[in-house]
Amino acid sequence: MAASKSVAIVGGGISGLAAAFRLARRTSPTSYKVTIFESTDRAGGWIQSTVTDEGNVLEGGPRSVRPAGLSGRAALNLVYELGLQNSIIAVNSKHQAVSNRYIYVYNKLHKLPSGLMSMLKPISPFSKSLMYMILRDWWMHYGTKPSLKDSDESVYQFFQRRFSTEMADFLADPFCRGTSAGDARKLSMKACFPQVVNYEEQYGSILAGALLDKAIPISEADCPLVYQAKKERWRMWTLQNGMETLVNELFKQLTKCGVNIQLNTKCQQMSFLSDGKVMINSSEGLQDFDHVICALPAKNLGAILSSQHPTLSSKLSKIESITVAVVNLIYDEAIPAVNGFGHLVPSIESPGILGIIYDSCGFPQLDSKTKSSTRFSVLMGGAWFSQIHKENATDDYYIQMAVNAVRNQLGVKLEPSTVKLSMQRDCIPQYTIGHLPLVRQIFDYIAMHSLPMSLVGASYQGIGLADCIRNANLAADRI
Ligand SMILES: Cc1cc2nc3c(=O)[nH]c(=O)nc-3n(C[C@H](O)[C@H](O)[C@H](O)COP(=O)(O)OP(=O)(O)OC[C@H]3O[C@@H](n4cnc5c(N)ncnc54)[C@H](O)[C@@H]3O)c2cc1C
Repeated sequence: MAASKSVAIVGGGISGLAAAFRLARRTSPTSYKVTIFESTDRAGGWIQSTVTDEGNVLEGGPRSVRPAGLSGRAALNLVYELGLQNSIIAVNSKHQAVSNRYIYVYNKLHKLPSGLMSMLKPISPFSKSLMYMILRDWWMHYGTKPSLKDSDESVYQFFQRRFSTEMADFLADPFCRGTSAGDARKLSMKACFPQVVNYEEQYGSILAGALLDKAIPISEADCPLVYQAKKERWRMWTLQNGMETLVNELFKQLTKCGVNIQLNTKCQQMSFLSDGKVMINSSEGLQDFDHVICALPAKNLGAILSSQHPTLSSKLSKIESITVAVVNLIYDEAIPAVNGFGHLVPSIESPGILGIIYDSCGFPQLDSKTKSSTRFSVLMGGAWFSQIHKENATDDYYIQMAVNAVRNQLGVKLEPSTVKLSMQRDCIPQYTIGHLPLVRQIFDYIAMHSLPMSLVGASYQGIGLADCIRNANLAADRI
């Protein structure tokens, strides 16, 4: 008979659910008795989709997943294992939501170069063509290994050093705001874009690295969805009724497998016992386990460990997260000007408005089927949240700011028929300079003290949903 291990998972976001699913499906040689502790009344963490009465889908958190790389494949494999393949809505490389990406600079929209022709000539706001800057980088640096190999630098510094200040201001800065709502001047290049750093270290040129880098072949373990994504050149996907469909299905199947999902159960303290077990102190009382998978933000974990492991706790507490105000807007008309994924706003243009996503362009399948509508999401705050925040500000204050941004930046004069504010407090961990050594120290501490604990979640090794799923799988496989 297979031996059985008890595993606690603290945090019922996608990382915790994916880890539980991986364990629940593995029965040999060990089977697992899994309990998830989730402090709120629902699972899913930042994955929060709402379907309006008219059938529009509004996302308060993640809205799409990239299928690229090992993480992208892990996410597709999970979708397949859950039997959700018929719910997938994919966008391929030819779609205008992929080719049309904009930045809003000097009070107007500028389409970013996509395709060879647009890279050959200077396109406003850049004074030089993108190809010129890439070739200059290649010409100047090819074969030259960076002298500061072991040090870290900011994303902004890296782009400024390799390309130009314009590239740092108009590409790196808005890109960081779009992906992590963070400040390129503070974010670590090595932690946020390890592959690009690797190109520099290995080839001495970003272009050479991108050209010579070999794609990792699809493995036998990958599901048919991974093959389909490659064949059809998918660039992003979501699910019918939004990303929360993934959470709902995980919840359903985990419950069916006997995983004990305890909602409204906050882990208040965690201590490691001399017999090798771990004790969870939650609102439900004391329970001990053979192993714990911590799938909650690093800062929250730091607070839970402070009395028994103050050194580890203080390291975990250094990983800060920022707050994003997400405002979903629905307009009761098909607005023709919308043809692209959306636009990002560099911090030198407007610190508080990070960007606007044209949701209806990427995924029109998530618009109402019964009446004409256009959906936008305005992302605000992030590393600049203190600049837009007002003490005692009502929801209406943030909503009005978002409506004004759509009016001023996209020329939409109509009033929205539906508005929804999601104030996502401390939602995206920031991989600032020194993040990688800090994470290394945290993992080393756990190994050195032989703690029966795994760390997963967005705080450590990738903030994207797909990274969270892959890292959860890896952690579950290591138990
Ligand atoms: C606004 C926004 C937009 C995003 N857009 C995208 C996107 O388009 N694509 C993409 O790939 N990624 C995106 N992301 C990132 C991605 O959604 C997150 O990184 C991911 O969902 C994090 O999942 P997680 O399980 O690691 O953490 P979380 O979702 O934070 O889950 C942690 C869970 O732990 C619980 N918890 C906390 N403390 C305790 C405690 N003491 N006891 C018990 N439970 C506790 C919390 O309630 C929560 O449910 C976005 C994130 C945000 C916020």
